[in-house]
Amino acid sequence: HVSGTRTDKSKYGGRYMVTALPGDGIGPELIGYVKEVFRYGGVPVDFEEVHLDSSRDDVDLLEQAITAVKRNGVAIKGNIETRHNDPNCKSRNVELRLRLGLFANIVHVTSQPGIETRHQDIDIVLIRQNTEGEYSSEEHTSIKGVVESLKVITKTRSDEIARYAFEWAKNNGRKKVTCVHKANIMKLSDGLFLSRCTEMAKEYPELEFDNIIIDNCSMQLVANPNQFDVLLLPNLYGNILTNLACGITGGPGIASGRNYGKDYAVFETGTRNTGKSIAGKNIANPIAMMNAGVDLLYHLGLTDHAQVIARAIDKTINVDKLHTPDLGGQATTTEVVQNIVKEVQKHA
Ligand code: ADP
Ligand code: MG
Repeated sequence: HVSGTRTDKSKYGGRYMVTALPGDGIGPELIGYVKEVFRYGGVPVDFEEVHLDSSRDDVDLLEQAITAVKRNGVAIKGNIETRHNDPNCKSRNVELRLRLGLFANIVHVTSQPGIETRHQDIDIVLIRQNTEGEYSSEEHTSIKGVVESLKVITKTRSDEIARYAFEWAKNNGRKKVTCVHKANIMKLSDGLFLSRCTEMAKEYPELEFDNIIIDNCSMQLVANPNQFDVLLLPNLYGNILTNLACGITGGPGIASGRNYGKDYAVFETGTRNTGKSIAGKNIANPIAMMNAGVDLLYHLGLTDHAQVIARAIDKTINVDKLHTPDLGGQATTTEVVQNIVKEVQKHA
């Protein structure tokens, strides 16, 4: 990883301490299964759980969560539900990202041979600015019936994410970076983002660089996704296109998402769903969170453990084809997990 995120602080006596934020909906059960697989795999990771969820509006709990991530440096996270209709209730997911300075979100989607989808051989990395843009949380009613919402784009944050994306592309053998924007309409804000990305591209002549307007990019992604390699995105477009990219490669249950800042790293599912309506029914697809667990192990440098679990996941979905209902299958969550455990035990 190009991220300078420290992992030394999470290590005590050969074991690592990682913060777990189970969140709402399916988060707790999915993180529970990650722990189970780690246990069977003999993975030297212990978890410090903080139950930050929508059941308690506790400011202290948010502080506790932030302190725990700062102490351990690394976290795995379920989504925390945000009440839509309460303007005073800010998203604690957004708050966490801001407070921890997690400026980069990376979602890598790849076609899975065992999962039937319209397109094959998709391999796209979406690198998203994770802390500004439309997520400034600066909204107000100026006069009754008129709402203003600030989209904030800065040179500093645009340079930061552009640098991060080009470095990532270079260090991971990628060929092309595509900046996604709407600079033809948002001339100043997206214009700044595009111009900083274009400027940064000049420092990476070994990488091809181009740009595309968000609306066209959406259409191209569903029609001909194989033309894309690395997408470099501002915050809201990034949110939407990561979901689209997950959608064309198997849905919300497959890809993981990584959040990096200068000091901390937080691992979660790519689409960041709460999955409230499917919680507790033994039907949620556990793979996306399991992949987040694999990401976490790579991040900690526990490469052997990461590979064993990654192979077990691959065997389960692509060879044994144990699929939960979201993939059109009949398997339960626990059947999928048990199969992963069985594969992991062969190598533990
Ligand atoms: P949000 O958290 O944004 O409200 P939802 O929880 O409504 O999103 O998730 C969007 C859709 O994806 C829902 O239909 C949900 O059931 C489905 N979904 C999300 N995560 C999973 C998963 N791990 N396995 C199966 N379906 C999932
Ligand atoms: Mg929902």
